[in-house]
Amino acid sequence: MILICLIPLLWLFFSFGEVDAKLRICEPAKLESLDWEEFKWLYKQQDSTFSGDSVAHYVFIRINPDGSRETREVAALHQPWTDLLASEIDSFEVKRDSLIKRIHSPYRLKYTSTTRNKKQQLALQKKGFSKAFISFHNFGLAADGAIYRKGRYLKRGMIYDQYGYKAKEIGLYWGGDFVGFPDPGHIQAFLNSASLIQKYPEVALEYEPFKNAYERNYFKKVDIGKEELVEDSRDLLTALNKLRENKPCACSQAIPFPASASNLQLKPYTITVLANLQENYIFIQKGSYGYFYSTGRWKLD
Ligand SMILES: [Zn+2]
Repeated sequence: MILICLIPLLWLFFSFGEVDAKLRICEPAKLESLDWEEFKWLYKQQDSTFSGDSVAHYVFIRINPDGSRETREVAALHQPWTDLLASEIDSFEVKRDSLIKRIHSPYRLKYTSTTRNKKQQLALQKKGFSKAFISFHNFGLAADGAIYRKGRYLKRGMIYDQYGYKAKEIGLYWGGDFVGFPDPGHIQAFLNSASLIQKYPEVALEYEPFKNAYERNYFKKVDIGKEELVEDSRDLLTALNKLRENKPCACSQAIPFPASASNLQLKPYTITVLANLQENYIFIQKGSYGYFYSTGRWKLD
């Protein structure tokens, strides 16, 4: 009797999180074609070279179903999101700066961390992001305000609520509303990452290398019943997964070295990625060597 009651309970316990975050799995599949853009995304999901330390360029080799071989070399894998988000960044900066005038004496608002300038952003874009998760600061769509009273920095207080209220009045989102880790100095241009990538799907590419980290974080909280703390992660994962459904992927299980890859040569300061659409495998360089995987397509679990 107890067991009968427990089973549905356990089922509920284990299935909720997964249903919400819509896990995706790479199902083995033959790819009839693979355009260079999809190829880049496929690699990006496996990218473990975040800092791009000594990577001068990436070499993408595609062996087509008819056996013909094509090569593309690219210097950077990042989408030109500075261009893509330019008007959003401008509009955020205008709103951010207008808040300075809306905080009145004896208080004074200063920004400690603001939008990175174009040069820093380009450097960042070229290098890839740090190993930390992506924040709106990376996109120039967030700022951290510090409020002073007669020259003395205030860590908290009602004035931050006013600041938050005024930020929201002009269409910004306030860190004081963050669930679990309120950040009363922080303001950003979008509600969360999911709403950013829903508007600009190309930006999702920047999130792909961090997907596993977001997933671990999300399920860790779900397992201890703190799902409400990670709603933004859940929305982000759901949005990322939905965007990739049916798109090409490299299946997670490594496969043995295929004989046809014996002439594959890796060059220094280069990351080589190869897709063999005749034999349905992908080679992805990791460090000084790499691994072979079956080709597949993402399916929502
Ligand atoms: Zn911040």
